[in-house]
Amino acid sequence: MPTQASNAPEAPVFSPRLDEVLAEMIKGQAPNRGRFCGNCYTPLAEERRMCPHCSAATSDRPPVDRVPAEVIAMFRALRRRESIVVNSFAFLGLFLGVALFLGLFLVSDALWWRIVDIIILVVASRLFAAILGGGLGDEVGYRFARRRLAREWRAFAETREPGTRNRKPGTKDQGRVV
Ligand SMILES: [Zn+2]
Repeated sequence: MPTQASNAPEAPVFSPRLDEVLAEMIKGQAPNRGRFCGNCYTPLAEERRMCPHCSAATSDRPPVDRVPAEVIAMFRALRRRESIVVNSFAFLGLFLGVALFLGLFLVSDALWWRIVDIIILVVASRLFAAILGGGLGDEVGYRFARRRLAREWRAFAETREPGTRNRKPGTKDQGRVV
């Protein structure tokens, strides 16, 4: 897909501001109404003539008054993927804790050692789950989900293109033709 000069290719698909708004929308805490960039759907203040995120001019890309369902669906998928990865890493951490417990179990059959081993099981599995899930999983999940999102966004932008190119400024529309 040809990259427009105004599009920063490395900029995240969802601006931090849109991210916030979408998170509230899917929880039902914010209505899907407002003034959004016609290109990247970043919320725009009334006086804005250019998107602060993707630099699209409103004369070029008329703002829309709601975020398309496809974009909300992409956001849900993004969050779902992130949490799947984080949870998988957390489970891996739990398994490592259990594996450590089983390994240490064989070291000695003294009662005090069994007790120590159980304490190690509880502490280690929680610790490993937190480190793997919260630290590594978070990072990996974020990257994975954003990569997939970028791909979905490109496909979405291609279906959207014919509807938004050459559209007269001021035309109120979803900005999308199927
Ligand atoms: Zn924008």
